[in-house]
Amino acid sequence: MKHIKVESDVLIIGGGTAGCYAAIRIAEESGLSVVIADKADIRRSGCLAAGVNALNAYITEGHVPEDYVRYAAADAEGIVRHDLLLDLARRVNKVTHDMEKRGLTILKDENGKYVSRGWRNLKINGENIKPILAAEVKKKKNVRVFEHINITDLRYDTAVRGAYGFGLHDDSFYEFKAGAVLIATGGASGIYRPNNPEGAAHQMWYSPFNTGAGYCMGILAGAEMTTFEMRFIALRCKDTIAPTGTLAQGVGAKQVNAQGEIYEDKYGLTTPQRLWGTVSENRSGRGPCYLQTKGIDEKTKNDLYKAYLNMAPLQTLKWIENGGPTTANVEIEGTEPYVVGGHTASGFWVNRDRSTSKEGLFAAGDVAGGAPQKYVTGALAEGEIAAEGIMKFLLQKEADEDEELLNSKAIEKKAEYEKYLSNQNGAYTPDELESAMQKVMDEYAGGIRTDYIYTGAGLEAAGRRIEELTELLPLVRIKDVYDLLKLYEVRERLVVAKVLIAHLEARKETRWHGFQEYAEYPGQKDEFNCYINSILKDGRVQIIKRELVKVED
Ligand SMILES: Cc1cc2nc3c(=O)[nH]c(=O)nc-3n(C[C@H](O)[C@H](O)[C@H](O)COP(=O)(O)OP(=O)(O)OC[C@H]3O[C@@H](n4cnc5c(N)ncnc54)[C@H](O)[C@@H]3O)c2cc1C
Repeated sequence: MKHIKVESDVLIIGGGTAGCYAAIRIAEESGLSVVIADKADIRRSGCLAAGVNALNAYITEGHVPEDYVRYAAADAEGIVRHDLLLDLARRVNKVTHDMEKRGLTILKDENGKYVSRGWRNLKINGENIKPILAAEVKKKKNVRVFEHINITDLRYDTAVRGAYGFGLHDDSFYEFKAGAVLIATGGASGIYRPNNPEGAAHQMWYSPFNTGAGYCMGILAGAEMTTFEMRFIALRCKDTIAPTGTLAQGVGAKQVNAQGEIYEDKYGLTTPQRLWGTVSENRSGRGPCYLQTKGIDEKTKNDLYKAYLNMAPLQTLKWIENGGPTTANVEIEGTEPYVVGGHTASGFWVNRDRSTSKEGLFAAGDVAGGAPQKYVTGALAEGEIAAEGIMKFLLQKEADEDEELLNSKAIEKKAEYEKYLSNQNGAYTPDELESAMQKVMDEYAGGIRTDYIYTGAGLEAAGRRIEELTELLPLVRIKDVYDLLKLYEVRERLVVAKVLIAHLEARKETRWHGFQEYAEYPGQKDEFNCYINSILKDGRVQIIKRELVKVED
């Protein structure tokens, strides 16, 4: 592999929502040189690839940021960082107005006021939100974008100084050197067996290409993680895995069982409760379950068709094929569990400036923990907060890197890629290893197969199997650099799975029905009114219990 070295003041790993916005803010506020490295083309990468039809975090008139903190904290049964939430809630409106100036269409009523859906959500025409962000980034003279580069590891001595990766189009080894690094690679999908089989396996809720790379890099470098056990499981339209919020909140469609009984009131309306209600109805023999859309008028139907074209076109196609939501209720199901810090509180343990426990490393967006319900505008806000943190950090940074150590680490990493690439006759394909991992997690660590419920003995088995599968990585057959990408994606998921299992085991209660359902410990316990954090040390996940952080101004 050719060894390519790239130097900058700031390296941003992941040119998604948070990464692009951080780059824009640093470029507009400073003369620092910024590099974005992304595994894909940033015009259509990550969660925003297909577009979104709403900004889920916005403070409408008559409300204050503290209301948002209270809502997110209640939805997460108290396990949130109030301080982090407050910081981003105070900025979501500002970043919304900024995105509008940059070209995003936000729907307005006849009086020129934003059209909201509930008190914290704005309707947008967001199919092109990612191309808008990417174009803004590419206008900046001090930002260079390296696309189709898969980053696998951080470059660090005592502090983080860049990252290593490989080019998917030029088969080269990339060594990025930087004074500070922002990790913005999103959350982790594909750890559990998904709803749809084989060729349709990627028809999942979360971006299938966000594989937990940032978590993995941080975990392997010894960074502290938080609340992985608060998994996110989406309640989705069956088969298409399209969002249900537009039907439930947008149209007011109720959750009904096969007998037509409204069941949502029985279980509660928080995100996990809506899911758990559906699982429970199915378990009691009253499924399948639906969102009640039958009888909606033609205008609402047409609005729904358009709304779904903005974010999940498959659902509109399905409706056109089967007669539409006016004639049949929309069947719903839970997805497989994900680790996603933008919806729940899992991810890097960060300070208010979004610095992590590793010096020189910052985190923003779905990869950062503590602040659930952050969504698009929260990710933008965190990108901005991290940008400010990085600019301040670089002004004060003193320590220089240990060049000799870092050079030898780069040589080792390049040799690792080349060794894997030469393994043309390995016993397994990366896909086979991935399926085996998903089967283990599904069956033993609370996947769809067990209605998300797990036991201590199951977790113990899952932990053992994940270790065994990790040992098989050197036996994976690699034909080309695309297989190498898949191999590292499996590695990332295995590392996330290992930490997730340890967190599920450590929280000996059931805090969030459905999201975290420990069979032996069915209720909540006061002693777990705390964060479960972890650090990987000598190959073992060390659990740290931390006291809840109360709101500070
Ligand atoms: C299907 C779906 C619908 C949603 N709908 C809405 C909605 O309507 N409203 C709303 O407000 N929010 C919505 N959200 C949530 C919101 O989109 C996300 O929370 C937010 O975009 C996450 O931003 P991020 O920067 O953390 O991640 P992303 O925007 O996903 O960016 C991650 C980036 O990292 C890159 N990357 C990953 N791994 C690597 C690697 N190893 N090397 C280099 N690059 C890498 C990816 O290619 C990607 O560009 C939705 C999310 C999903 C998945």
